[in-house]
Amino acid sequence: MKKKIERIVPRPAQPNMVGDGFRVFNLIPGAGISQRRMSPFLMLDFAPKFTFEPSKTARGVGVHPHKGFETVSIAYQGAVEHHDSKGNHGIIYPGDVQWMTAGNGILHKEYHETEFSKKGGPMEFVQLWVNLPKENKSVEPHYQALTKDMMGEVVLENNAGKVKIIAGEFNGITGPAKTYTPVNIINFHLNKNGNAKANIPISHNTALVVINGDVQVNDAEVPEYSFVLFENEGEDIEITATTDSVVLLLSGEPINEPIASYGPFVMNTQDEIHEAIRDFQEGKFGVLE
Ligand code: MN
Repeated sequence: MKKKIERIVPRPAQPNMVGDGFRVFNLIPGAGISQRRMSPFLMLDFAPKFTFEPSKTARGVGVHPHKGFETVSIAYQGAVEHHDSKGNHGIIYPGDVQWMTAGNGILHKEYHETEFSKKGGPMEFVQLWVNLPKENKSVEPHYQALTKDMMGEVVLENNAGKVKIIAGEFNGITGPAKTYTPVNIINFHLNKNGNAKANIPISHNTALVVINGDVQVNDAEVPEYSFVLFENEGEDIEITATTDSVVLLLSGEPINEPIASYGPFVMNTQDEIHEAIRDFQEGKFGVLE
């Protein structure tokens, strides 16, 4: 049975700037998709293709904390660099993913990679926050550098395109990300008129983001940059590309626990939020210049 579409949410009218480097449209929770509705996905910032002018200084966002969840950055175009207080450093290029488990608390900074900054150019990316279940909120912070060549890949028949699996499974092929709860994060790169079918458990909260291009989803016309939220019934999703398109599929088993959310901290109770703020102020998340 086909999954019914609950809502097709257009891209918000106005972008937000995260620091001076990331021009994003906030879909969760900004476009009216609550953290609970799309659990375990707590936050989704979508930066559709935008061309930056050359810059002598690297644009981005300076040192800031996270605790209680994971940040997942997916690069489609451009190059994003990262440093954290556990000594991790990485650069993601198109097709790469940076998966940081903030766990019991970390500091990091995110900015345009130096060469990209100098030359300028198109940037296109997504940042997701994926919640951790209560029992895993205090894991030691760690980091998965998931490069393009590590992703699961399915080449579709009839020159329809290809599917890249970051996390979870598609047609028996799994993605490289290690997750704490069942999650699918999958990119569909479809050629014009290309068609793909996915089968996602009823129990998962499920959505699509049209990163670029225009598509049809289960017979509904879905314009570029839309967010498609599915009802929790039926399992089948069919995507047909009206133009060459990239579509991000997100699904996950909901974490049915209280969410206490304050800026970059997401815990289960207000007391834990106060504790997170105190730990951050006391320097327990480490040091990062
Ligand atoms: Mn961050």
